[in-house]
Amino acid sequence: MKVIKDVLQLQKIAFKHLREGDEVGLVPTMGALHNGHVSLIEKSVKNDDITIVSIFVNPIQFSPDEDYLKYLRPVKKDLEICKKNHVDYVFMPSANDMFPQAYKTFVEVEALQSIMCGVFRPIHFRGVATVVSKLFNISCADRAYFGMKDFQQLKIIEKMSKELNFRTKIVPCPIVREKSGLAFSSRNFYLTNEEKSLSLNISKILKEAAKEFKNKSLSVVKKKAINKLKKIPNSKIDYAEIVSIKDLSLADKNMKKVVFAVAIWIGKVRLIDNTEMTK
Ligand code: AMP
Repeated sequence: MKVIKDVLQLQKIAFKHLREGDEVGLVPTMGALHNGHVSLIEKSVKNDDITIVSIFVNPIQFSPDEDYLKYLRPVKKDLEICKKNHVDYVFMPSANDMFPQAYKTFVEVEALQSIMCGVFRPIHFRGVATVVSKLFNISCADRAYFGMKDFQQLKIIEKMSKELNFRTKIVPCPIVREKSGLAFSSRNFYLTNEEKSLSLNISKILKEAAKEFKNKSLSVVKKKAINKLKKIPNSKIDYAEIVSIKDLSLADKNMKKVVFAVAIWIGKVRLIDNTEMTK
């Protein structure tokens, strides 16, 4: 396993693999790796000749009031996880190499970037779409792996990739959960024990909603779930929306396959989760 910190060096290596006909998989992450990330890595290692994991806490997707500086950076542990899982290259560029001071080019997926999480994090998805575009160009990846945990992000990247004709195929990967049901997230590390036990309610409520959706109306399911979410102590809901699995438009009563997505604060930690619901 090689650790590459220089953008041009990785691009050179990636071009070499492209010329030699190797299929390259990219797993973009911000580090603080957990079992969710590992599931993406395992998929790439299985599908692709070469697996590149990028570890980059992307400054341009954080607002000034967010946790960019505080974001966990357990580099040694992350590298051990990558090595154990047969990653070929770990790409760890500096913020300055990716976004030098005079940087001014951004990618925006209009409409999708300003709903749901975008309402509360206005510059977030512009930052995500921009960094992912750069990572696609630097890595020349044939496939890139994204978790369905960040469902809105996945939809934005899919649309961006299609509309900008990137050669990289997007591979959606299922949400990996702890035994308790809580979705793995780097932000879980910030939860106190008490907050963690409160946060277990989120996946439980979503699971119950998915079960009820089989034979109850959309509006009843949504109302019941929101009432339960509101009752979680020490919490604040940013949003709880049932949307089309295709394009994130608000679900209507005729839809048979939808996604219930929530963003909720438990104490000072903002958690997101979602579940697919089918009739
Ligand atoms: P992050 O490091 O949080 O930016 O996440 C990097 C990638 O891992 C994204 O594509 C996430 O959707 C994915 N991911 C994070 N948590 C999970 C999870 N619990 N299950 C599956 N994928 C995940």
